[in-house]
Amino acid sequence: MILEQFNLSGKAAIVTGANTGLGKAMALGLAEAGAEVAAVYNSTPPDHSGLSQELQARHHPIQADLSDVASVDPLVDQVIDELGGFDILVNNAGIIRREDALDFSESDWDDVMNVNLKTLFFLSQAAARHFVAQGKGGKIINIASMLSYQGGIRVPSYTASKSGVLGLTRLLACEWAGKNINVNGIAPGYMSTANTKALREDPVRNQQILDRIPAGHWGEPESLQGAVVFLASEASSYLHGCTIPVDGGWLVR
Ligand code: NAP
Repeated sequence: MILEQFNLSGKAAIVTGANTGLGKAMALGLAEAGAEVAAVYNSTPPDHSGLSQELQARHHPIQADLSDVASVDPLVDQVIDELGGFDILVNNAGIIRREDALDFSESDWDDVMNVNLKTLFFLSQAAARHFVAQGKGGKIINIASMLSYQGGIRVPSYTASKSGVLGLTRLLACEWAGKNINVNGIAPGYMSTANTKALREDPVRNQQILDRIPAGHWGEPESLQGAVVFLASEASSYLHGCTIPVDGGWLVR
């Protein structure tokens, strides 16, 4: 039956940046669909006090600083130790730095590229090696952006990293589809999280953005739950290298 294909019982997922914003909502969506979730955070562990005991029990907080690729192997080892393996990786952790391109610093370039693209690649590589060794295939879901498609302004390293995420999703799909690994992405539109607080607090930019979103409002983190469960599930088994915009219609405007 079709709804059974969306059921993630018996699966385990790593979600990076799962303590806040979009990652927290996607981790919850995957747990509600039945998955055990390694909820990766850097600074503050996720607060799940409002959840049912069943959902709390499916979240397994793990600390890792993904600004350094040296964090990848210990993270994967810890997840395998605690959960016995994993089937799904959601590469969600990401940062942004805003400055005019004329004044943009090397550290603002490197910091963003390291978390958003370099570690995303090496964590995907480690996950795919695990999926091949496990012999059951797997799912990798990369969180892209509207700036995977558009230029933006004052965010050069963010645009470069998210454009890279879109291309890398396609490349990894080409290499790993034949190994029963689905690599796909989600491109969130303008979502109400800490990442966009500065934009939402600027009345001019806020109104400009709202005027351009056909749906007429910012997205909520929960808006991504349907897409992430779909991409993590058997229902998307023939989908490879696709990045789904969840954007209130922004891209088609
Ligand atoms: P957010 O609330 O700022 O969350 C960012 C997450 O990334 C946090 O959980 C953070 O963990 C984690 N992170 C940052 N640096 C890390 C590091 N060095 N090691 C481990 N984790 C790290 O942002 P968000 O809006 O939910 O964004 C989530 C993803 O969606 C990002 O990739 C972002 O680019 C993308 N996105 C967001 C929007 C939007 O409108 N909000 C739109 C398009 C794409 P700590 O809190 O522990 O540091």
